[in-house]
Amino acid sequence: MVACWARIRGRLRDEVGEVEYRTWLRQMTLHGIDGEEAVILLPTRFLRDWVNSHYGDRLRALWQAEDGAVRRVEIRVAQATVGAGAEPAYAEGAAAPLRTEAPGLAESLAPPPRPPEFRTPEPRSDWVVPLEARFTFDTFVVGKPNEFAHACARRVAERPASPGFNPLFLYGGVGLGKTHLMHAIAWAIREGDTHRTVAYMSAEKFMYRFIAALRSQSTMEFKETLRAVDVLMIDDLQFLIGKDNTQEEFFHTFNALVDQGKQIVVSSDKPPSDLAGIEDRLRTRLGCGMVADLHATTYELRLSILQAKAAAAQVLVPAKVMELLATKITTNVRELEGALNRLVAHANLFGRPITIDSAHEVLHDVLRAHEKRVSIEEIQRKVAEHYNLRLTDMVSARRARNVARPRQVAMYLAKQLTQRSLPEIGRRFGNRDHTTVMHAVSRVSELMAADAGFAEDVTLLRKMLET
Ligand code: ADP
Ligand code: MG
Repeated sequence: MVACWARIRGRLRDEVGEVEYRTWLRQMTLHGIDGEEAVILLPTRFLRDWVNSHYGDRLRALWQAEDGAVRRVEIRVAQATVGAGAEPAYAEGAAAPLRTEAPGLAESLAPPPRPPEFRTPEPRSDWVVPLEARFTFDTFVVGKPNEFAHACARRVAERPASPGFNPLFLYGGVGLGKTHLMHAIAWAIREGDTHRTVAYMSAEKFMYRFIAALRSQSTMEFKETLRAVDVLMIDDLQFLIGKDNTQEEFFHTFNALVDQGKQIVVSSDKPPSDLAGIEDRLRTRLGCGMVADLHATTYELRLSILQAKAAAAQVLVPAKVMELLATKITTNVRELEGALNRLVAHANLFGRPITIDSAHEVLHDVLRAHEKRVSIEEIQRKVAEHYNLRLTDMVSARRARNVARPRQVAMYLAKQLTQRSLPEIGRRFGNRDHTTVMHAVSRVSELMAADAGFAEDVTLLRKMLET
C-alpha cells in the first residue's frame, strides 16, 4: 500500500509539475484504506477543498490503476502523524481563498485564529512568522504595472543575495501587492531549500520585538537570532520613520546580514529617496540594491486579477460585472477583491447567480464611494488644455468660436459629471445665465450627434476626467 501511494504521488508530481505539486499536494498523507475507500489527509480545510475539486478525479483514477478495489478517495482534514510518510510541511495555515484584510497592527501582535482542526507545525524559530497561504507567485497576476517588481521578486526567490539584487526594495501604494510578493518570495525560498530560514515581519513587529528585548534585557539574543537568518524581510518600512533607536538596530542588522551574503527584502510606500525621517546612511544602503516599484493598476490588470480570483473561487461572474468593478474600483486591489468577495458571498447566501443588477445592488455603497468627484475647475482646466486655451478663457466674455465652443463643451461636461445646478454652473463660468448653460448643453449634444469626430473628442475628455 505504501509503495502504491508513493507511485501515485510520483505520477501526480510528474503530471502537474513541481510547483503545483509543492503548492497543493506535497502535504498529502495516506491515512489508510478502508474497504473501497482510500483516505488521504491534508492539514487544512482550504487545502482539502482545493485538492478535492482540482485533483480529486485524478487521484481516484490513479488509485484505481494501482488497486482496482479502491473506488473512492476521501480527503480529510487532519494533521499527519509522524512516520506516515509526509514530507516536511511548512505551510503555516491557509486562509479562505479570498480573504481580504491585510494583517493590521493587532494581527501582527497576535496570530490570527486558526480553524480548530489545524495545528501549527513547530516553527523552526520564533522568527518564522506565518505566511499567508494564498500569497504565492502562482496567484500573483502579472501585468505592465507590476511586471518589473514581479521579475525582481522571482529573481531573488531563485537566487537569493545575487549581486545587484540585495537589498530588494519594493515600493508602491496601498494594496498593490507588496506584501503578496514578499510572501511569495518567502514561500519559494523555503520550498526550494527547507533549511533556509526566512524571517518575514512588518517593521512594526520588528520594533515591538526590539523594544521587548530591551525591556527583558535580551538584546543580545535578539541580535543573534536575527543575524542567523538567511533571508530577512521587513514589510512597510515607512513605519520606522522617526523611530531612531529601532532604525539604528535595523541598520546594524542590515549591515551584518549583507556582509554575510544574506538577502534582505524591504517594502515601503515610498522609494528610499523619499523616506524623510530615515537616517541618511540607512537610506543610502536601502537604495543600493534593486529598487522596484509597483505602479497603480491599469484597467487590464484589474480585469485579469478579477478573472483569476473568480476562477480560483470557482464562481461564475459575468464579464459585465467584472468590467464594472474594474472600471469603478481603481485604487486598491484589496478593495477590488473585497467587492468580488461580497458578490460571491451574497450569491452563495441567497443561492442566486451574480448579475449586473445584483452587483449594483450589493455594491451600492462601494460603487458610490468610488464615484469620482470631478470639480468644475478640473473640467475647465482639462478642456482648456485640450483645446490649447488658457484657463481664463473658460470664464472670459470672449465670444470667438474657437473659445466659445470649448467653453460650451466644458459646460456640457460640468452638467454631465457634477451634481451642480445650471445656475451654479453658469456662475462658475464667468457669471453666465443658466439659460446659457442650457443652450450649451443642447448645442453640444446636437453637435455630437452630427459630427463623429467632435463626439469622439468630447468622449475622450469625459473619459480623461472620469478616471
Ligand atoms: P500591499 O502590501 O502593497 O498593501 P498586498 O500585497 O497586501 O498589498 O495586496 C492586497 C491584496 O491584493 C492581497 O489580497 C493581494 O493578494 C491582492 N493583490 C495585489 N496585487 C495582486 C496581483 N497582481 N495579483 C493577485 N492579487 C493581487
Ligand atoms: Mg502590505
